[in-house]
Amino acid sequence: MRADVVVVGSANADLVVSVARRPGPGETVLGSDTEVLPGGKGANTAVAAAKLGARVSLLAAVGHDSYGRMLVDSLESAGIDTASIRHLERPTGVAYIFLTPDGENSILVSPGANSALSPADVRIAGGKVLVASLEVPLPTIEHAVALAAEQGIRVVVNVSPPAELSPQTLAVLDPVVVNEHEAAELLGPDSDPRRLLDLGPRSAVVTLGARGVLVIEPDGVQEIPSPQVAAVDTTGAGDAFTGALAARLAEGVDLATAARFAVRVAAVSVTRRGAQPSYPTADEIPG
Ligand code: AMP
Repeated sequence: MRADVVVVGSANADLVVSVARRPGPGETVLGSDTEVLPGGKGANTAVAAAKLGARVSLLAAVGHDSYGRMLVDSLESAGIDTASIRHLERPTGVAYIFLTPDGENSILVSPGANSALSPADVRIAGGKVLVASLEVPLPTIEHAVALAAEQGIRVVVNVSPPAELSPQTLAVLDPVVVNEHEAAELLGPDSDPRRLLDLGPRSAVVTLGARGVLVIEPDGVQEIPSPQVAAVDTTGAGDAFTGALAARLAEGVDLATAARFAVRVAAVSVTRRGAQPSYPTADEIPG
């Protein structure tokens, strides 16, 4: 398969437990049964794009263990090309997620194999859009971005978790995608997210939760509102947005048009539980 959307990023097993309250120091509390779900920003983004019909490959790293097999199986059942996934002598990444009745999730990530994905593991052979996020080492992402840019591939980076990208990397991003907190990390507190282009990217998108997104291009800024929905679980909403944006950009539409579609996809995702299981197919997006 020749992928149009090449995703570079993390793959984690999400171990989800509902608990009445978070355990304090030295305390043991009993929770629900553990739900084991496929997750990680890279895998989530890849699944979001693939469910919308894009041809997707994922460059990621897992271990030789049952979580690694579970992740690769779930990616393959979503139709994603997993030939570039590295199987390393490290445990597969795990996110321990505690869901509490106050609606706040506490998450502990043990990155495992994700932290061993190295620049030497990166091969980019064609594609229309490269999408990366930063739960894998920064030098690996910067190498992938440089290879893609050399090949004339459009590059989208979701700077999450926040990291200091080199000026060369920033200069080719079209767009850089951040939420409001990440924008403040990049620009400094209380700064106007519209100033993101001062950092050098060709374009920027700031996600604003239930309010939608800002699309920032050299010729102006557009505010794209989100459809109003009853949110039940916003886990992975940003990855749904980025995956949908990449799927549409790979079809050649302009950034604002792609973002208008992607907010509709992300809005559906927050009305359902989980990250990947909540992502819609194209015919589930309300007209
Ligand atoms: P965030 O990372 O919270 O900015 O969310 C990413 C994207 O997911 C937003 O830009 C929205 O498109 C969507 N989203 C998140 N929360 C909600 C919500 N409560 N209602 C509708 N859409 C949402």
